[in-house]
Amino acid sequence: MADQVAASVDEASRVRRQYLESEQRFRALLESLPKVAVQGYDRHRRVIYWNEASTHLYGYTAEEVFGRALEELIIPDDMRDGLIAAHRAWIEEGQEIPAEELELRHRSGELVPVFSHHVMLNEHTDEPLMFCVDVDLSEQKQAHRELDFARRFDRLTQLPNREYFEEQLSAAVKDAQAQGMLLVLVYLDIDRFVEVNDTLGYQEGDRLLLQLATRLDQGLRCTDLMSRASGDEFLLAFSGIAGEEDIPRLVLKVQQVLRSPFALEEASRKLTACLGVSVFPTNGESAAELIRSADVAKNRAKLKGRGEVVYFDQRLHDELLYQHRLSDRLERAVEAGELMLHYQPQVSAASGRLENLEALLRWYPADGPPVSPTEFIPLAERSGLIHRIGDWVMEEACRQRAAWRKAGLEVGRIDINFSGSQMNSPDLFARLDECLERFALGPRDIGLELTENVLIDADQRVLEGLQRLYHRGFRIAIDDFGTGYSSLSYLKRFPVTALKIDRAFVRDAPTQPEDRAIMEATVFIGHRLGLEVVAEGVEDLEQLTLIREMRCDLVQGFYFFAPMAPGEIERLVIGMSATPSGLSS
Ligand code: C2E
Ligand code: CA
Ligand code: CA
Repeated sequence: MADQVAASVDEASRVRRQYLESEQRFRALLESLPKVAVQGYDRHRRVIYWNEASTHLYGYTAEEVFGRALEELIIPDDMRDGLIAAHRAWIEEGQEIPAEELELRHRSGELVPVFSHHVMLNEHTDEPLMFCVDVDLSEQKQAHRELDFARRFDRLTQLPNREYFEEQLSAAVKDAQAQGMLLVLVYLDIDRFVEVNDTLGYQEGDRLLLQLATRLDQGLRCTDLMSRASGDEFLLAFSGIAGEEDIPRLVLKVQQVLRSPFALEEASRKLTACLGVSVFPTNGESAAELIRSADVAKNRAKLKGRGEVVYFDQRLHDELLYQHRLSDRLERAVEAGELMLHYQPQVSAASGRLENLEALLRWYPADGPPVSPTEFIPLAERSGLIHRIGDWVMEEACRQRAAWRKAGLEVGRIDINFSGSQMNSPDLFARLDECLERFALGPRDIGLELTENVLIDADQRVLEGLQRLYHRGFRIAIDDFGTGYSSLSYLKRFPVTALKIDRAFVRDAPTQPEDRAIMEATVFIGHRLGLEVVAEGVEDLEQLTLIREMRCDLVQGFYFFAPMAPGEIERLVIGMSATPSGLSS
């Protein structure tokens, strides 16, 4: 027996020696491949060759492994029997072991992903040699995992992104259905997050988001789900809810997360957020529907103000349907010519003289009552129809201005409202230029009105477009001033020529000292920056008196004129030129 073992070890070393001698060059080649691990095995699967890369990959040196069996070294236990059988079948029946992706065992016990090729040399002799050529896949696997992670998770918070969350939510919906339980979805949107980024910088913004994510996460149970849906929006899903009476408690829990201030580099900062809530199965049958419902509710909450909560309900559902229909009708309205422009005069606060007009869109549907632009403009923005509508407004205002000039009517400039998504159209400025040129109009004929948020969100292209208009002398007014962004310091960064103080301040100024103070400050700063200041929505003498005291330049409002159809404007202007003392009061 001992003789036999000795003979067999003897035999192995003889085969190995032979091999080494005859394959010097081959060996040099194999050794020089740093990433390709090559091992050779005799008919009993004992190691006869082990290159440097194999040492690197599996942790064993060549000296340690010579003469030891493959299955004792790098083959995981559960592959052992299969491997021995496959090796035997190859030697005895010529059945090749195909190349495949495997996980083999490192000396440390850890598994290593490899792509393994197998070659049999001397196949039809007594000394068949199997060579394994293994390529390390760890890096690819890692890259793949990272890619997979990036595809499904948010980089900053490491939370699932919206798409992956929807997948997870689909599974949770199925579970809830099977268990007959409710599932509650909360859409969280931080109020005025742009201000944090803008005033403190993106790094602080990120820090804040991370803290919020951590706090929200601490309140979750393991069956709950969470996602960073977009920049400052999070989605939370609570499953296993027995009855609707449990929902307010959940919402409160989310709100409480925001209660204490967030620690930032310099100081701490309080945050509020709006929440939109939808419930399975009442507000949606699928994950996508539930998310949409919660999103609608969240947008509703945003409209109400800061820190608001809105539950999706039948009313919202009906409203959604109504908006959908309205959107269809609006699309037809553009073609059917149901839109028209009215014009509201702006008068000098000091003299009451008519200075300019603002173009305001009107929709008179053939089949129903007029619809307010406050209702259909946001709708058109969402559906993308705003571009066609905006182009129509531009064209019509320019046409009207040219026609009035031809008729010799002194109506002053016509200011056009531009909404946010309209600005996103890449060739808006080119179309405006084209329109102005076609009607031979310049800065004294046409002006622009934009809201603060449009300026703050504007990208380089939009800013450059505005800059060019500004330098050509066009009037650019900030509309609804005071309602969007609360900092005045940004004003000097933007190409603007006028501020229109929002109606709400004018309305409350006579009774609210704070509103009065804000208005006074706005007029003061506006004038210091060389801007014209306009008061909107002046309805009575008391407001007008205050506004005159504050030295606003222009006044717009029902006290003087409501928006009027073009014919009325014509009559007004003709009447005024007939009685030169006009309207000064
Ligand atoms: P806005 O640009 O702030 O327009 C002023 C709004 O205040 C107009 O409402 C006007 O009718 C109203 N108004 C004027 N004077 C008074 C007053 O003394 N008291 C009160 N209570 N209201 C007054 P309107 O015409 O309903 O327009 C609402 C909004 O719709 C506009 O607000 C503007 O944001 C948008 N809009 C109107 N036309 C257009 C347009 O052609 N394009 C775009 N993008 N938006 C438009
Ligand atoms: Ca306006
Ligand atoms: Ca306004």
